[in-house]
Amino acid sequence: MRVQAFAALVAKAALVPFAYDAAALGDEDVEIEVSHCGLCHSDVHLIDDAWNRSTYPLVPGHEVVGRVVAVGRAVTHLAVGARVGVGWQRSACFACDRCLAGHENLCAAQQATCIGHHGGLGERLRTDARFAFALPDGMESAEAAPLLCGGVTVFAPLRRYGADAKRTVGVIGVGGLGHLAVRFAAAFGCEVVAFTSSPDKRKELHAMGAHEVQSSTDARALRGLADRIDLLISTVPARLDWILYLQALRPNGVLCLVGASPGLLQVPAAQLLTGQKSICGSDIGDRGTMVEMLRFAARHRIVPTVETRPMQDVNLGIERLRANQARYRIVLEN
Ligand code: NAP
Ligand code: ZN
Repeated sequence: MRVQAFAALVAKAALVPFAYDAAALGDEDVEIEVSHCGLCHSDVHLIDDAWNRSTYPLVPGHEVVGRVVAVGRAVTHLAVGARVGVGWQRSACFACDRCLAGHENLCAAQQATCIGHHGGLGERLRTDARFAFALPDGMESAEAAPLLCGGVTVFAPLRRYGADAKRTVGVIGVGGLGHLAVRFAAAFGCEVVAFTSSPDKRKELHAMGAHEVQSSTDARALRGLADRIDLLISTVPARLDWILYLQALRPNGVLCLVGASPGLLQVPAAQLLTGQKSICGSDIGDRGTMVEMLRFAARHRIVPTVETRPMQDVNLGIERLRANQARYRIVLEN
């Protein structure tokens, strides 16, 4: 099957129309007619080969929504016509200890939707049906797309570190991931502090559920927040003064990085010993967390704020994302 898509032919290039022959539909696969695809900052990192993992031609796009148009012989949980979403991960071995424990996102043999495979910025996607998730009725497709990578990536650490009404959660960087973290944390009943470098977002962040909005880059303001926060989730794809953020944590506090901050993290050990603080990372979410997140989002009406544009405007979308102008997730539509 010939698929019309958009690809970067070399690192850092603008996307161009690109047609490819999809691999034969495997027994465990589904074919999806793509209606929407969100633009995640990881797509930008992939286009730029920032992680030395990209393969070209590269069709980005891993917040994919569409209708199932064909199913492999072994697929029993999805039928033609089902509306599904696909995120960053496209497969796992399903046999290792981590998969058996339900942590497929930690499987050593996992594959990503748009590394070594062509992603969702096209008309069709063939992928493993076990990573295609039925979408709740009533959830708009454009608004479901950002949940499939951005949503699950912030929902997972909120669940893992016990976000609840007793805790204060700080969200550092309020873009595609961050604005969903603010909304989820507010729905969990947490006190929510949003840290932003964009003063014009302040009013919107309060409307999303932030109880307090702080500058993410003003050292003086950050020093004033010492001992205030239980869980900090950083979505920032840049380096910040992590020592100031550690100081903002209460005892047993956690600084969890989901944003791909470049370079080394350097903090004095004493900052971790005193107050038993931790720095950790979090990697998307497993399938169980994805299903739980979609149900939670539907129940609590966690609706991403999206800018919807035609798929042909993909390069404009990428430019806006690079320039931090997206409010708050750009979703491309076929
Ligand atoms: P995004 O929409 O561009 O949001 C990132 C936000 O970070 C921006 O909106 C901005 O928020 C802030 N920011 C950007 N540059 C900054 C700078 N120089 N200084 C301070 N703040 C800055 O990106 P995204 O799609 O949310 O993705 C964020 C990061 O998460 C990326 O690195 C992406 O690769 C990573 N990611 C990781 C996973 C995972 O599994 N761990 C999954 C998905 C994405 P303000 O305007 O509020 O300051
Ligand atoms: Zn992503």
